[in-house]
Amino acid sequence: MNHAINKMLAIAGAVALAVGCECIFKCDKYEKPIDVGNRLSMNFISIAPFFPNDMEYTIRESRHMAEASGIKKNAYSMTMQPDGTDVYAKPKLCAEAFGKLREALKDDDIIPGILIQSTVGHGWAGAVTCERDWAEIINIKGITLHRMCMLDPNFREYTRTMIKMLAEKKPAFFLIDDDLRAINNSDNGPECFCPLHLAEFNKRSGRQYTQEQLIAKIKTGAWNDPDVV
Ligand SMILES: [Zn+2]
Repeated sequence: MNHAINKMLAIAGAVALAVGCECIFKCDKYEKPIDVGNRLSMNFISIAPFFPNDMEYTIRESRHMAEASGIKKNAYSMTMQPDGTDVYAKPKLCAEAFGKLREALKDDDIIPGILIQSTVGHGWAGAVTCERDWAEIINIKGITLHRMCMLDPNFREYTRTMIKMLAEKKPAFFLIDDDLRAINNSDNGPECFCPLHLAEFNKRSGRQYTQEQLIAKIKTGAWNDPDVV
């Protein structure tokens, strides 16, 4: 499991801010949505380390963080992009561990939610990648980024199942990280130009572009060119 990222987040004391989203703060631990007052008020959420193979430490750190910071909403950070060949092993492990965590905290004032720290993957160097033969994102530079293409039906089914497995453990809320930003993934530029996306583009537009032609068109096309717009 991605302990390094979890530790970084814990050390940095990262705090996520969510504005006016009381509707998501609902779980069977509470009979009604948590009152956050004015809809424009801020909710402070701690990004909490999550070690499914060391729940004793995870629970101890949860209590320590809540007491030290005064922030009671914990988003347990889980890197959920598909990994390895048995892609459902990680969601199963995390879901079972989260269920135990939730049970252990039921008498605490901590509100446990889940941060899906990655869905398609951030594409960082050295990141563990899916070992299934699923489509990966190709960016406007023609580089394969080891991020999962959102159009791949296998990946979509994985994502649906993964969220369902976690949701069954009734987290108080989900936060979804920003690795889904295909319009501009950091300095990698727009995505995705994989064969699946190219076929979909050509089908919808009635064109027959190759990957290189479409990329060139987007880079050099006039602002009012309908293919670019
Ligand atoms: Zn694609």
